[in-house]
Amino acid sequence: MKKKLLRYLNPISQLGNSHYSLVFPLITSLCTVLLLEFIVYVLLGNPEAVGLFAIFIFVFLIIYFSFRDGIKGGLTATAVTIAYYFYIMHSRDYTGDRLRSGIETTFALGLLYIALASIIGWLKQTIDVLIEKESDEKRRFQTIMQQLPVGVIVTNNKGVIEFANKHADIILGTKVPLGFTVGENFFVNVIESNPSPPSQSILAKVLSTGKPVINEFFLIEKVNKKKVYIDVSASPIKNTKGQVIAAAEILNDVTTQRELEKRKDDFINMASHELRTPLTSLKLYLTALQKKLQKNQHETELKIFNSIMSQTDRLQNLVSELLDVSRLQTGKLTFTKEPVALHTLINDVIDELQTSMEGVTISYKFQTQVEVSADKFRLYQVLTNLISNAAKYSPGKKTIHVRLKKIPKYALVSVQDFGIGINKEEQKRIFERLYQVPEPQEKTYPGLGMGLYISSEIIKRHRGKIWVESIKGKGSTFYFRLPLSKT
Ligand code: ADP
Repeated sequence: MKKKLLRYLNPISQLGNSHYSLVFPLITSLCTVLLLEFIVYVLLGNPEAVGLFAIFIFVFLIIYFSFRDGIKGGLTATAVTIAYYFYIMHSRDYTGDRLRSGIETTFALGLLYIALASIIGWLKQTIDVLIEKESDEKRRFQTIMQQLPVGVIVTNNKGVIEFANKHADIILGTKVPLGFTVGENFFVNVIESNPSPPSQSILAKVLSTGKPVINEFFLIEKVNKKKVYIDVSASPIKNTKGQVIAAAEILNDVTTQRELEKRKDDFINMASHELRTPLTSLKLYLTALQKKLQKNQHETELKIFNSIMSQTDRLQNLVSELLDVSRLQTGKLTFTKEPVALHTLINDVIDELQTSMEGVTISYKFQTQVEVSADKFRLYQVLTNLISNAAKYSPGKKTIHVRLKKIPKYALVSVQDFGIGINKEEQKRIFERLYQVPEPQEKTYPGLGMGLYISSEIIKRHRGKIWVESIKGKGSTFYFRLPLSKT
């Protein structure tokens, strides 16, 4: 109540409020007149004592009401003041020179009061319009944010949550606590995150690094015990000087997509396991049959047979790639590391591939012998994938350069072709699982988009890095680097 009264009386609290009162200034000014009259007549017993006193009090009232109630308030107080001055002259029997100078003073003061009320009142009204405009914008912005079909959380630059829309509450299953400071503590129960572990909230990360975070996944448990997967992206918000002034986060419930993806992964896992067993037996029978045909020198049958064998090998490769993808997904791909002479391994891969690649010239250059600690079989797989791709995606221009060199702390391998090349936008995506460049030309090449994903995971798990440099139509160079063995 007291607070409400104070807010009503305080002109600063009324800024932005364009409902200007006439009654309040009128009644207050009239009450002041009555009070003054009471003081001079009853308390002081000297009606003449009012003069200077009244000027000060009414100047204050005019300023106050102009600031509180705009031009309307200021002019109301001015009107009461001038009327009061006339009343004083009349009630105190001003005559002759005294009356003339009283009227002149009232006229001069009246003009001054009107100017004062108009200027201050106009300023107050302009400020109100500006504030209203700004809060209209704010309201419009908040309405848009509220109705976005994704969860939105905004913090200030100190990480204090200032805004959250209702979708954020729905996705997280709890009311987002405004005023909560994001950091190492979460206001929801985070069970899992990718990348893990979730050491701090994404918004805190964004604020401390000043860089955006895209698509991090969290598994959270809602208050009602329901588990949901959320996809979180966040970005720092900077002012024109580049200083971080806030951070905003976007949340998406991706539980349904996740479940579908899991079903797809389970299917790939099951199918590849089911296919592997009959294929292994088939390969064994075929090998036995091949030996027989070779012995009996059935040349024509042997030719057909070799085609069957190479198609079976392709099928087996595809199935083992599918199995690898599934193992990578479930974290079951294991590595047996040993010292590997990389220069020799590359030579072996080239020797093996060269026999099956007709019309392809593979040149190999290495500066020095290089040893790394790695899973030999898996590195073999990476090199085979890169060199086979180089040949596959280079129709007609089948020269491939393989290079190995030592750079500080790392061995660097590159495989260069002069084939179809890859667009800049696709270069990052080709290392994703099951990603193939979505261009008609690309569709003519056989493959399922698993090789580079497996290769990049293998390299990453050897604490290495894989990347590509390419120009569309000119060719590509795939690089990978691995830490050198500590000798
Ligand atoms: P795929 O089995 O389809 O070859 P990969 O994972 O090995 O799968 O490659 C993914 C995609 O990257 C390919 O579909 C192809 O579009 C592109 N790609 C890979 N290597 C090359 C290359 N040397 N030149 C051009 N494009 C390539």
